[in-house]
Amino acid sequence: MDPCDRISAKLGKFRPSITLQLKRLASERIQKGLPVYDFGLGETKGTLASNIREAGVRAYREGQTMYGDPAGMPELRRAVLEWLALEDHYSVDEVVISAGAKQSLFNIFLAVCNPGDFVFFDAAPWVSYQPLAIAVYAGPIMVLPLAGARDGLKVAPEDLRRNLKMRPHAKLFLLNNPVNPTGQLYSAEEVEALLSVCLEHRVYFVLDRLYWRIVFDGTDYPEPRVDEETKPWLIQVDGLSKNWRSTGGLRIGWSVGPSDVARAMASLQSHYTAGPAIPTQHSALAAITDRYDPELKMALQSKRDLLQAEARDVPYVKVWPTPASFYSFWDVRGTFGKLTPEGTPISSSDDLAEYLLHSAGVVTASGAAFMQDGYLRLSFATPDEHIVEGVRAIREALERLS
Ligand code: PLP
Repeated sequence: MDPCDRISAKLGKFRPSITLQLKRLASERIQKGLPVYDFGLGETKGTLASNIREAGVRAYREGQTMYGDPAGMPELRRAVLEWLALEDHYSVDEVVISAGAKQSLFNIFLAVCNPGDFVFFDAAPWVSYQPLAIAVYAGPIMVLPLAGARDGLKVAPEDLRRNLKMRPHAKLFLLNNPVNPTGQLYSAEEVEALLSVCLEHRVYFVLDRLYWRIVFDGTDYPEPRVDEETKPWLIQVDGLSKNWRSTGGLRIGWSVGPSDVARAMASLQSHYTAGPAIPTQHSALAAITDRYDPELKMALQSKRDLLQAEARDVPYVKVWPTPASFYSFWDVRGTFGKLTPEGTPISSSDDLAEYLLHSAGVVTASGAAFMQDGYLRLSFATPDEHIVEGVRAIREALERLS
């Protein structure tokens, strides 16, 4: 066999998720005893809540380890509807539990896309959207604002409409709200306007709402309209990974959508995972049925404020306001054209991220991973002293540029 044929043409082009690579780089530095200020990975830290832990432990003790319903435990699917206040609109059969929101998204792409269909994302798509689209032979399209960077790189309805008109095989528009990586929040009016464009064009409106509990300054989450008109086209994705502490590794996500799509996804899962592990589904059930503690949101809001205050006098960068999520988005184009002390030019976000890592031990995510060269994403779900010392290390590293 030709060595080029050993891996399929589509997967041969894949690179592992950049954010997980960052985790590896940071731990390599720690093992060498070098300082690391980790703003890289999008993961909440801290102790797993005891109710979540104990529900899983109990499930193991009670021997709840047999195969379950491939679409997820019915009691968890019912609880998901209550968690999202959707119990008056959907039945349990319209909920599918999967191994993380990633799998929910992949299920959706597999369920609705044919080869050659187009799927649309915003101008700074989260790292895994494009690989998932390519894996189903769909064409990923970023909806770029017509007149340069619009407010917070947000997609306006006319941008989406223009793109959908150009491509007859449009299948879905995926909106991430709050947005990873930019930390922006679309308002209820903005969500409604985009949803209406999708309805006009009869394309699915997929809402990835994974960070929906982490909305700051007392703002309510802008829920999408759910009624007979929107239901056939609206698919919502959520999960356990972000709104609690240290839950990313439990790998539970869920989707709520029209019954034909949910049925296709459940049928698919029956063949390729048979549903996520039962004990972790019990953990998820405890997480979403017990009263939600806003402590994480409040802690993150104060970290956001700390980061913003510390970053005020960092040269060459503009820090975007962060109304939601735990990502601070930095416009770093002011560093382009500068030279490091070693004489290496900074000409991309990748160059800057690499310089910060090697010269200051600061881990960031380069905007290039989100198709936005010129920016860095900093996750502030990190201890306060790391924020203070890490921003100081960034400031000193940037002051050394000439
Ligand atoms: N969607 C967004 C916007 C994310 O940031 C992530 C994870 O970082 C995911 C989906 C995937 O979530 P999960 O870890 O539950 O698979």
